[in-house]
Amino acid sequence: MSWTVPEQIKLTMVHQMEIRQEPGLTRSNTRETTCVVRRPDHGELRAALKCGRCGREGVFVIQDLETTKRLRRGPVARSLVAAVVLLGVVAALWIIGFADGNILFQVLAIPASLLFLPIGIYLACSPSGNIGVRPPESVHFSTDTVREGLSYVTRNSRRGEGLACSGYAKPAN
Ligand SMILES: [Zn+2]
Repeated sequence: MSWTVPEQIKLTMVHQMEIRQEPGLTRSNTRETTCVVRRPDHGELRAALKCGRCGREGVFVIQDLETTKRLRRGPVARSLVAAVVLLGVVAALWIIGFADGNILFQVLAIPASLLFLPIGIYLACSPSGNIGVRPPESVHFSTDTVREGLSYVTRNSRRGEGLACSGYAKPAN
């Protein structure tokens, strides 16, 4: 829902423990910690969320509504221009191809529609994913990948620290 700026934001810390790649299947073992915060009325809010696995405190910086709208203005405008161009190219191929009987444009019209229409519609519906939250820095640990039977398992090379600890934010439902 990226036409609207969410009022409630769900913050998540993700600690990735290991990745197990089996033939045709990848399993990722993670520990997630979440909380929901309300966007500040004015200024920025710094919210700390502790990772439930390693105890690291990730600091999220959340901007107020006005600042977030300003940050979104550029990306939204660029997405809408791109959507108009993509839809315009498809429309031109169909019109020139079939109204003027141009074989080359007729041949191009269908693959161009399949390729450009979904992108254009996506950009028009979701012009920016920016919700005005800066997530904490990710921490990556040194890892090893070992073969176990038919699987490849990636885990921390020393102890059970895991692979990475990171955070992300999204609109809360
Ligand atoms: Zn962690």
